[in-house]
This record gives sequence, structure tokens and C-alpha cells, in this order.
Amino acid sequence: MKFLEFARICEQMENISGRLEMTEKISGILAGLDERDLPLFVQFLTGKIFPDWSPEKIGIGPNLLFDALTQVVDLTRSDIIDVINRKGDVGLAVQSILENKKDTKRPGRASTFQTSLFSRELDLLSVYSDLERISRLGGRASQAEKLSLIRSLFQNASPLEAKYLARLILEDLRIGIGEGIMRDAIARAFSVDPSLVERAYQALNDLGEVALLARKGRDFLADVHIMPFHPVKMMLAQQGSIAQAIAENGTVAAEYKYDGSRFQFHRQGKKSRMYSRKLEDVTDALPEVVETLNRATPHDVILDGEVIAIRDGRPLPFQTVLRRFRRKYGIEAMQKEFMMQPFVFDILYLDGKTLIDLPLQERRKHLEAVLSECVAPQTVGGDASVIEAFYRESLDAGHEGLMLKVLSSSYTPGIRGKNWLKIKPGVDTMDLAVIGAEWGEGKRAHLFGSFLLACQDEGELLPVGKVATGFSDEQLLEVYEVLKDHVIAESGKEVHIEPFLVFEVGYSEVQKSPNYKSGFALRFPRFVRVRDDKAISDIETLDSIKERYKKQSSQGKPGGE
Ligand code: AMP
Repeated sequence: MKFLEFARICEQMENISGRLEMTEKISGILAGLDERDLPLFVQFLTGKIFPDWSPEKIGIGPNLLFDALTQVVDLTRSDIIDVINRKGDVGLAVQSILENKKDTKRPGRASTFQTSLFSRELDLLSVYSDLERISRLGGRASQAEKLSLIRSLFQNASPLEAKYLARLILEDLRIGIGEGIMRDAIARAFSVDPSLVERAYQALNDLGEVALLARKGRDFLADVHIMPFHPVKMMLAQQGSIAQAIAENGTVAAEYKYDGSRFQFHRQGKKSRMYSRKLEDVTDALPEVVETLNRATPHDVILDGEVIAIRDGRPLPFQTVLRRFRRKYGIEAMQKEFMMQPFVFDILYLDGKTLIDLPLQERRKHLEAVLSECVAPQTVGGDASVIEAFYRESLDAGHEGLMLKVLSSSYTPGIRGKNWLKIKPGVDTMDLAVIGAEWGEGKRAHLFGSFLLACQDEGELLPVGKVATGFSDEQLLEVYEVLKDHVIAESGKEVHIEPFLVFEVGYSEVQKSPNYKSGFALRFPRFVRVRDDKAISDIETLDSIKERYKKQSSQGKPGGE
């Protein structure tokens, strides 16, 4: 497919607001695509260059993109940023910049299309290949090469193509097509059951691949297996209470809630890899953890667990663990400071067999049978006082709380539901994306002082309020350092930020609010911590905010329905 056609489709989608109409339109297109274009189209249209499981990351921030543009048009970086601020969107700005571009080969003449001798027509595959090459160029030394590849892409793009190319490179297509719509469109295009598509997506974590299997036929889709070294999204938990869990399920499995970092361990034969919660390969950063797990089992496995840092028998704060996950150098010195202890609580794959459809209690039997150490202790029961005592034991030992799990539940990758409940003392918190900020005042005028936060709904980010309290001076500085290179546009005191950073925010109550697009706002929001172990796809959904709002009313808090 020509990239121009893709851009035209994106433009059409931007003008459709009904989910059904979008699904119908996309399914019609999917049905007509060949094997080569189908997976790329599916990826790109959902605003992703690589599937979530892939270790490849594009790693181009707005600044590199702007620098590349300065080499395509006769404008400085600050001219470009001015246009972006005026338009309020990188895609629209890039489109208008190219529309007004003076053709450098024929000075004085405006050109809407490239006329260079070397111009080539972009198609999905050529764009993908260039972006893949960029992702393979690591480190600062390769900046020049990255710049030249991006420059060449824009030199060959018409203004409309450039609009969506820029947004694609920043992985924020803004056409409102999330995974849900794409799953429905795949099911419709190839006349397969949506639940089969959903199941295959959970296992493969790759919508392009799922579309290819659906195209081949129902049986291929139904026969999906998870594979070592192809990380699976992590199953997620929602807040709950011991009383609720017992009332709804009778008997539950309780485990400590460890305050460390989630990991997924894959082993096949002699090869093993560790992945973080964001599915990044962190094997090299955690050699002793890999060694421990290798020692614990000789089987081919995919294990799910949490690793914590321990000194003098007590868990250290979760930030300590994250430092290890991010570490590239000086690992040996840090190994001496504290011990990293993995706790494994689930098994998804064993010696060629996919286990995620088995009930938790069956998976647990496999786990205990194949792992000689590191299994997270579990208590099973239906007596609230026994579970309460286990909860206290967990807190006394310095852990975060309790996880309650439904014994009959399958492992549902990427799904936050009632089958895993987290119980923590203290305030309610939510994980939200930072999508904007406002410059601070007084001694904080050179830093951001307040942050606009968003939840997600079907791939769209919806604002739910601002947070300005709870930060120490060091934290504000740290956050500023992380965000400053991701500013997309600025107007007055407000900046628009490329969404990638997640804040955990405490609040006293969820309120209805006409001021934010989500329809909700948080009362007394307080910054708790940066969750750099979490990706944008992990943040709170609009549905779960609605759920929290409803629950408040049933607990007699004001603000409920
Ligand atoms: P939260 O990060 O607050 O949404 O809580 C869920 C997280 O708790 C999971 O993603 C895990 O990283 C972590 N966790 C700690 N202990 C457990 C456990 N026993 N079972 C499942 N998740 C756990």
C-alpha cells in the first residue's frame, strides 16, 4: 500500500466519530490487503511501529524530528516550534510547513510535492524498513545516521503523508483507533469470532500477526500458542477488599503484594531472558536474578513474578529495584549493596505447552512442581480472619499489602479485572499519563509546577485533572529533566507533552467534572511517585474510573451517583 493511501485513510478516520462506522470502514480495507501490507497496516493504524512484544523501539523524540525537518525546509528549529505552537499539533504543523515549503532547487517556487531526482514514492514497507533501521541504530554516535534517514523520509513525503509520518514517528496518530476497534475490524474482515481474536491477541501481543492468522482462517487463530522470547502482556490487578473478595468467591488465594518490579522470565534450553513490565529485555541488568531462576528450574518455562531488593532481611523501596532494572554499568558494585530476590507467582508456559487457559489452582500446581525455589508463598482460604492475619504478616514484613486471586481464573494477559485484587493500606491511587504541564512560579519558575494527567479509553488519552502538590524540589527537578525533551507545543504558561511518563497519583475522591474530557476529576490529587516501570497502555481506563466513582457512592462517599 502506498503511504499516501494510508495517509488518506487516516484523514478519513479522523473525520469519523462513530465506532461502528470506523470498524466497518477498516474491516473493508483489511479484507482487501495482501500478506505483506496487512500486518503493517494494522500496526500503523493503531499508532504503533512495532508490536508491543518486540524489543525494537523507535526512540525518536520531538527534538530529533524537528532537527531533521530543519534539513528539509528552510526553517530553524525555533521557527518549526513556533508553527507547532500555533497549530497545537505536530502533524498539522509539519503538513503546513511542507505545503509552504519553497522548493530549494527552483528558488521562489512553492512546491507541494518533492521534485528531487532521487524522490521515491513511500509505501508501508519502505517506511517500516527505514523506521526499523533507525530503531537498530543505538547510542548518540548514530544520531547523524538517524537524522539522515528521517530527513530522507520527509524529503519524499507529500504534506499529507508528512502529517501522518510525523505522528507515526512519535507513535501518537490521534485518529482514535485503539486496539478494541482494530480487534473488532479484524473479526469482521475475516468473519471470525471476536473472542477468538481477543484470545489470540492476548497470547501473541501482536495485532498484525493476529490479523494474518485470521486471514488464514479460524483454525489458525484458534491454535495460537505463546512462545518463549516473545513476551506476553502482564495480567493486571484492580483495587478491592478482603470482604468483597470472599463475598464474591468464597475461597480465594492470597499472596503478599511485593513492592518491587514485575518481571517475566523466559527459558528455553540453555537460553533465558528477563523482561520488565514494559516488556523490555532487562536480562543484562539482572544477571544474578537470571542465575537464581535458572538454578530454580531446568524446564522450558515462562514465569511471572515480582523482584524486590532486600537488605538486612527487609525489603528496600521500590525505586531501588528500578535503579537496577535501568542499570547498564556498575552492576557488580550494586550487587554488593543489596540482594535482589525474585518471587514467582505464575507460570504461563511449560515445556511447549501454553498454560494460560488453565485455572490458577492448576497453574499453581505446575509452578510448585517445576520450581525448586523462589515460589511466592500462598494461602488459600475463605475465612476473612485468616486472610486478615496474612495481610498483617505481609505489612509487618515490610511488603506493600496483599493480592487476592480467584482460584478458577485463567491468566488474562493485559487485562485488569476482578480476578486479581490488590489490597493496600492508605490512600487510593491511580496511574495516569502526563500529557501536559504548566511552568511553575517564584523559585520554581524554571521548572514545571503542575501537570495535566490523562486516563485512557480505547487508545485515546482523556484528561482527568492536574496535580501540583506532593512533589519535593528534587522530584520536580527530576521530572523536569525527564520531560523537557518531550515538549511538543507550548502556549503561554502551558506545554503539551508527548505522552510516555506515568505518575501514580493519590486522591480523596473521584468527582464528575465538565472541565475535563474524561468527564471526571480528582479531588485533592497528590503526586505519589513516577511509575517508570509502567507504560501508557498500563494507565487507568475510563471504565475503571467510572467503576471507582460508582463504588464511592455505595460506600456512602459524596459524589457518587
Ligand atoms: P499496582 O502496580 O499497584 O497496580 O499493583 C499490581 C502489581 O503488584 C503487579 O503488577 C505486580 O507488579 C505487583 N505484585 C506484587 N506482588 C504480586 C503478587 N503476589 N501477584 C501479582 N502481582 C504482584
